[in-house]
Amino acid sequence: MKQIESPAALRGFVQENRKSGKTISFVPTMGALHEGHLELVREGLSRTDICIPYIFLNSKQFAANEDLASYPKTLEGDLQKLKSVSASAVYLPNSQDIYPDGFVTKVSLGGVALPLEGEFRPVMFEGVATVVAKMLLQCLPDIALFGEKDWQQLQVIKQMVRDLDIPVDIIGVPTVRDENGLALSSRNAYLTKEQYAIAIQLNKILKEAAASGTEKDAAQKLLQAGFEKVDYVTIRDAVTLQPPDAKTKERRILAAAYLGRARLIDNMPV
Ligand code: AMP
Repeated sequence: MKQIESPAALRGFVQENRKSGKTISFVPTMGALHEGHLELVREGLSRTDICIPYIFLNSKQFAANEDLASYPKTLEGDLQKLKSVSASAVYLPNSQDIYPDGFVTKVSLGGVALPLEGEFRPVMFEGVATVVAKMLLQCLPDIALFGEKDWQQLQVIKQMVRDLDIPVDIIGVPTVRDENGLALSSRNAYLTKEQYAIAIQLNKILKEAAASGTEKDAAQKLLQAGFEKVDYVTIRDAVTLQPPDAKTKERRILAAAYLGRARLIDNMPV
């Protein structure tokens, strides 16, 4: 597995592969990789000849009070895992490559980025969109894969790529869960054993709410289960993330709740 460390080397690698007629997929990650990330790489490899994941802990998507400094870093293990799924290469840019001195440009968002995560983590999506736009333009893959685990983020990226005519197809990949239904997340590493027992209630409570078609009691149930604070648990139009209306074709229930240091998110179709 080739390790690519600069934007110029990434462009060179992509050009070489293009010359020999290869198609290319790209998988953005912040590292601390788990089966969810690996599933994106597997799906990429099933759709294109080569798949390039990147690992970049993107400081711009963390607010000052968030967990940038303590975000889990497991580079050696990450590289082993990527090798084990036959990733073609991994892109490991350093922060000077991505945000050189004097960097000021931001992707400004509206619409689907504004509710829910946009309200509770107001700097996050602009940080994500800025780095993803930059990475997509550096690589110019055929497709880029994102997890449905971050459902709203997937809609934000699709909107951005459409609005800016970035010539890359955005593919969503279903959420990978553990044996108890908990959506895998790098931040699950923050959970103690006791907190884990509470965390696995999240997907169960969402499933019940989705089956009943209403979020009415869900917040109360999360608090009763032991979550300390619920940012939201709500059924929305799956594409606009607004409350469903007459034009809504697909609905989705989405939630974010705190458990100790971890802020867990999850979502599923209704
Ligand atoms: P992150 O490293 O948390 O920024 O995530 C990188 C990519 O992996 C994003 O597209 C996430 O949506 C995706 N991802 C994270 N967890 C999962 C999961 N449990 N199942 C599927 N995709 C996931």
